[in-house]
Amino acid sequence: MMYYSTNRKAPQATLEKAIVKGLAEDRGLYMPERINQLPKEFFDDIASLTFQDVAYNVASAFFGEDIDLDALYDIVRSTLSFDCPLVRVTDDIYSLELFHGPTLAFKDVGARFMARMLGYFRSEQQINVLVATSGDTGSAVANGFLGVPGIHVYVLYPKGKVSPIQECQFTTLGGNITAVEVEGVFDDCQRLVKSAFMDEELNRRMHLTSANSINVARFLPQAFYYFWAYAQAVRMGLDGRRIVVSVPSGNFGNLCSALFGVRMGLPVRRFIAANNANDVFYNYLQTGCYEPRPSVQTIANAMDVGDPSNFARILELYGRDHDAICQHISGASYSDAQIAETMRQCLSESGYILDPHGACGYRALQEQLQPNEIGIFLETAHPAKFKELVDKVLGIEIPVPDRLAAFMQSTKQSTPMSADFNDFRAFLLAQ
Ligand SMILES: *Cc1c(COP(=O)(O)O)cnc(C)c1O
Repeated sequence: MMYYSTNRKAPQATLEKAIVKGLAEDRGLYMPERINQLPKEFFDDIASLTFQDVAYNVASAFFGEDIDLDALYDIVRSTLSFDCPLVRVTDDIYSLELFHGPTLAFKDVGARFMARMLGYFRSEQQINVLVATSGDTGSAVANGFLGVPGIHVYVLYPKGKVSPIQECQFTTLGGNITAVEVEGVFDDCQRLVKSAFMDEELNRRMHLTSANSINVARFLPQAFYYFWAYAQAVRMGLDGRRIVVSVPSGNFGNLCSALFGVRMGLPVRRFIAANNANDVFYNYLQTGCYEPRPSVQTIANAMDVGDPSNFARILELYGRDHDAICQHISGASYSDAQIAETMRQCLSESGYILDPHGACGYRALQEQLQPNEIGIFLETAHPAKFKELVDKVLGIEIPVPDRLAAFMQSTKQSTPMSADFNDFRAFLLAQ
């Protein structure tokens, strides 16, 4: 299968090239030339399959032409070494808990899958992954790539601007993971990474690639858990055709992978894109105009994105037809006060602890679900990842799961760095 660029000015790429390069030469995002339908028998039997087998069926429809099927099966199995359970919260609202992986956020699925795919396609030369993070991406990518032969990861993060728990998740690993603590803000980290990708000599010498959700090997595997949610709903005796899925969204990689799932036959009735105060997509749905803006800081900070990169893929999937997008996706946007209020209300009414991102998804269902519909929202991170905030909002002491606490016990190792590209460049060349 070939991959084309959303900007249509770059040559088509093989899967290997799309994964190793990440972004096309014309700065567009790679899209598969075809989306294969899954057969009716798959959906008839889905309730009897394991999570790994459901995911393998989906993965082979995307990648099966380009990778040895036994290898693909191993990649899927070792990526999904944890469950994504569907948990009932109210009579008609269910939580798809995506936080049971190593770093307790959904990005584990995409990062672990991408690491294994890159390991599969890796050439003789070492590949160097650069990733700028404001928190969750760095921890998922670092843990996903830890110990993968032939790959070194540099995680750039803004000094003093990530939570202590998040910082421990990528500064304590050692091995093939180097944490770079930048004297600046997240935008400085992103600028350093982008400048490195534009630097010809660095690219020639270092084989650089990125690991954010523009990479097809990172966003597509997120489709797995939507099929698994459907399988679990069927097992619970719910009518799959009445399902509405609400996705807390930032860069829209997660929602985009679900839309690919629908093209493959997943019977979800419609979607809600739940945003925090960063509401460019919400505004696009209302007006038809897409107006990116600088992001504003919120308590659901993993969704603080002012120009979501996967918007280009959504437009492409719907042939740039605003009406078609609106028929299938509705929007929501919540202030910090509304997010906090939702967390308190959900705890008191159903005893369920939401994290601030999941709270946006939950509230959108409460407001928009029709009487004959079943709502599923994605719980994208464990609430203990935002312990200080969650404790304060809810007036409780949320227990920290063992595997999260374990990160806090190890010693932090990081390389201090100025925000000047020349310093970062010299550092990379000296490696
Ligand atoms: C990354 C992230 C999101 C946003 O996901 P996108 O795919 O960027 O839309 C939502 N919640 C959490 C906890 C995240 O880490």
